Amino acid sequence: MSSIDSFTAALDGLKQGHETGRLAHAYLIVGSPRGNAMEFVESFIRFLFCREPTKPCGTCAECRRVQDHAHPDVMWIGPESKARWIVIGEDEEEGIRKVNRFVSLSPYSGQRKVAVILEADRMNESAANAFLKTLEEPPASSLLFLVTNSAQSLLPTIVSRCQRIVLSAAPEQDGPWQSALLDVLRRGPPQDSIEALIQSGRLKSILNEVKKSVGAEEDASGKEDDDESEESREARIAARVLEVRTGLMRQVLLWKRDLLMAVLGADDSVLHFGDEKQVIREQAAKMNYAQAMRQVESMEGIIRRLGRGLPDEAVFEVGLRAR
Ligand SMILES: [Zn+2]
Repeated sequence: MSSIDSFTAALDGLKQGHETGRLAHAYLIVGSPRGNAMEFVESFIRFLFCREPTKPCGTCAECRRVQDHAHPDVMWIGPESKARWIVIGEDEEEGIRKVNRFVSLSPYSGQRKVAVILEADRMNESAANAFLKTLEEPPASSLLFLVTNSAQSLLPTIVSRCQRIVLSAAPEQDGPWQSALLDVLRRGPPQDSIEALIQSGRLKSILNEVKKSVGAEEDASGKEDDDESEESREARIAARVLEVRTGLMRQVLLWKRDLLMAVLGADDSVLHFGDEKQVIREQAAKMNYAQAMRQVESMEGIIRRLGRGLPDEAVFEVGLRAR
């Protein structure tokens, strides 16, 4: 799916959610906070408030107010001050306290009170905790958008309470572990449980390297000079590691999808790992459609279950298994 396709598909999903009354209270939009992700949110909010039959028309007063960030039912907030943090605020006139109060008021015109937090990963600890209270018990008419290009820097407790929409390619795709992972994938699906164990062991050691480098990155980023506790630093690292683990498993899934494509006789141009087409064709020649399909489905299942505290070994081993 190209990024334009995923943008439109995600937008259609939200519109449908609104029309069927199934909108969540909070969405985490992963993309560029001043680029595609902000555009995405603006586009949906125009749709929400537009009063013309073909929504969003882009020209009516409601659409224009949304676009100018001047709609009385929509609040925008982002990092301020020199340190570029989003703070809790001294009172209900600023920071996250202002957001919390805003979404608890009744809407003027529309059905909703919408708050958009740009660069949500810049919430400091007290701001994040204050915001968490709103996420835990969202006021009935509230709709919250957290926009970030660094979801791994948010508290896991915040991420878990939002529906996630990823607009940009996962940054892990070009991670330093990419070549090590390719070495594992090039060997092909493990033929027996011993081989599965060996391969999952390799993936595990890739992840251990990642854990070390994430810890070092966090220490180097100097976040500790702000009012962040050790606990919150650890939570960030854990969230980042989980993100990388998901990224790893997505790459395995993409490889398996390529195998399926090759089994189906698809053209090289549709392969994600185009540079590896030779190896992919060789591996695909050894399996039939049903096997290739089962592998894709099992990987999809694994990724859905990620983040539920499964140990790495269990995730990797099941994910790699040939059957
Ligand atoms: Zn309009």
